[in-house]
Amino acid sequence: MKEGVVIKSTGSWYNVKTDDEPSVSCKIKGRFRLDELKSTNPVAVGDRVAYSVDAATGTGVIEEIKERQNFIVRRASNLSKQTQILAANIDQAIIVATINYPVTTPVFIDRFLATAEAYDIPTTIIFNKVDRYDHFHKDQLHEIVEMYEMIGYNVLTTSAKHDDDESLEKVKSLLNDKVSLVAGHSGVGKSTLINRVEPSLNLKTGRISDRHHTGRHTTTFAEMHPLSFGGYIIDTPGIRGFGLFNIEKEELAHYFREIFKAASNCRYYNCTHLHEPGCAVKEALERGEIASSRYNSYVSIFLNRDEKYR
Ligand code: GDP
Ligand code: ZN
Repeated sequence: MKEGVVIKSTGSWYNVKTDDEPSVSCKIKGRFRLDELKSTNPVAVGDRVAYSVDAATGTGVIEEIKERQNFIVRRASNLSKQTQILAANIDQAIIVATINYPVTTPVFIDRFLATAEAYDIPTTIIFNKVDRYDHFHKDQLHEIVEMYEMIGYNVLTTSAKHDDDESLEKVKSLLNDKVSLVAGHSGVGKSTLINRVEPSLNLKTGRISDRHHTGRHTTTFAEMHPLSFGGYIIDTPGIRGFGLFNIEKEELAHYFREIFKAASNCRYYNCTHLHEPGCAVKEALERGEIASSRYNSYVSIFLNRDEKYR
C-alpha cells in the first residue's frame, strides 16, 4: 500500500500523488463512513490517503483516509443541509482582494477571515491590481492595509500583471512548502498571480465570472496544484457559503480578533455588542479602536444581512 495526497477530485475519481511520482487515478473502496457533517463527498482535495495500485490498469483504490488536521466545508446547495468538504489539511488561507475592478467588499473579506479564524487557519490578505488604482483608491488601500495590519493580519499588495520578479518573491516565500488555499472573487487576479509565481501551471485567466454559476456547487471541485519550489496551491472555484453557517451567532465575536479582545470588558457576559448597555465593544468602536467597517461586518453577519456578499 502507498500513501499520497489527493490533489484533484472529479466526484468518482481522485488523483492521488506521492512526492516523487506522477499522480494516479483512484476510486474509493466501498463506502466510507459518512461523518456527522453529512458531507456529500467522503474524500476531499488535501486528504492524505493510503491506496493500492492495480499493476494491470495503472489505476488505484483508496483504502483509507488519514485523520484530517483540519478541513473546510460549504453547503452543497442553497436549500440543502448537506455539506461538501472543500479541502483538507490546509496550512494557510490567502484571500485575494481588490479595492476596485472588481470591488471586494469589507464584509466579504471579514466573513472569510472569520471563517478561517474559526477553522484556525492563518490567513494573509493580498490586495491585487494596485497598478490600476487612482489616488482615491490608493488612499483607500493604505487605510485598509493599515487597519488589517493593526488587527494582526499579514497583508501584501501586488500587481500580478506587472510586478517584477523581486516583488513576486514575497508571494513565493509565503507559499513555499505550505498547502495554501487561495480564494477571492472571480476576476480579482488569482489565476494571473498564481501563473506569475508558477508559470508552468498556465491557469486560464479572464474566465467568465463563476459568480453567475453559483447554483452548480456540486459539480465544481477544488484542485491542488503542486509548486515547483515546494508546496501546493488549492484553487477554490467559488467560495459562496464557505464555512460560517455552522458557527453559532453567540460565537461569532470570537472570530473577530479585536472585537473578541474588547468584549472581555462588556458588562454582560452574553453581550451581543448590538445594543446592550455597558458594551465595551461599542465603546472601543467610538474611541476608534475598532474599525467601523469591521464592526459593520460583524453586525451584518450576525443579523444575516450579508447573504448577497458571499
Ligand atoms: P481570477 O478570476 O481571480 O482568477 O482572475 P484572473 O487572473 O482571471 O484575472 C482577471 C482579469 O484581471 C484578467 O484580465 C487579468 O489580466 C486582470 N488582472 C489580473 N491581475 C491584474 C493586475 O494586477 N493588474 C491589472 N491591471 N490587471 C490584472
Ligand atoms: Zn458588548
